[in-house]
Amino acid sequence: MAELTDTTVKTSPQIYVVGVAFILFHIAALGVFYTGVSTPALIVLAVSYFVRGFGITAGYHRLLAHRSFQTSRFVQFLFAFAGCQAFQGGPLWWVAHHRSHHRHTETHEDIHSPRTKGLWQSHMGWMMHNEAFNEKGANTRDLHKFPEIKFLQRYYVWVILGEIPAFYGLGVLLNMLFPEAGTSGLQILVCGFFLCTVLLWHATFMVNSVCHMWGSRGYETEDTSTNNLFVAAVALGEGWHNNHHQYPLSSRHGLHWYQIDLTWYLLRTLKFFGLVSNLKLPKEFRPAGEN
Ligand SMILES: [Zn+2]
Ligand SMILES: [Zn+2]
Repeated sequence: MAELTDTTVKTSPQIYVVGVAFILFHIAALGVFYTGVSTPALIVLAVSYFVRGFGITAGYHRLLAHRSFQTSRFVQFLFAFAGCQAFQGGPLWWVAHHRSHHRHTETHEDIHSPRTKGLWQSHMGWMMHNEAFNEKGANTRDLHKFPEIKFLQRYYVWVILGEIPAFYGLGVLLNMLFPEAGTSGLQILVCGFFLCTVLLWHATFMVNSVCHMWGSRGYETEDTSTNNLFVAAVALGEGWHNNHHQYPLSSRHGLHWYQIDLTWYLLRTLKFFGLVSNLKLPKEFRPAGEN
């Protein structure tokens, strides 16, 4: 009798953690119907959204993944720290997958391509597959020279866990300072942490799903990436994804004045204050006189 070979692929325990977290966070976000909202809660939600969002777009994506501008180690750390708060994985994991997406766009190795894997998997289902955690990170070696980035990769979960008492405590404090505003620790925790995380998840995930399905194409790239105004608005400029596939090293994704790109506006502002430099642009979009 032939010996049976065990070809079962061991399921990564992280898949279950991600799946449970997705479900729990969506339920907790719906808690807003129980806690209600208040002016402080809306302000905290907005600030939290922009800080964590820019951590992903300017930090994880345009700085760490594409090195599309330069900054100090300290500012780089702050960007990465803000990105960690968004609960989208540690910086090295995020960068490894994103670089892989650019390298293997819409081939079988692109684990979040809606063309080859379907809309659900491209949006968030891919994080519940083994491949999402098999990435060896060989394409992030250039970032290994930064021990602080490796530290964040290792301990980013503690950053997220630390946010829970921080947001709750902030709510208690705001309620003490402005009792007439009608906020609470639970309300700030739900709005600033859970609801914000879920909204930002879907904004980011839409770049992988929607921006490879629906929108306009200014460039005939070899993939099916699109420019999508709605995604650009909610994902702080990342929805100009066809531009981005055409010019992946550009720090500016909304290449025309009418293409709103909040991350680019932030980078220009930070450049004005001397905090970032060498904002890379495609040759044809550089101001006259710059090479
Ligand atoms: Zn893409
Ligand atoms: Zn990219």
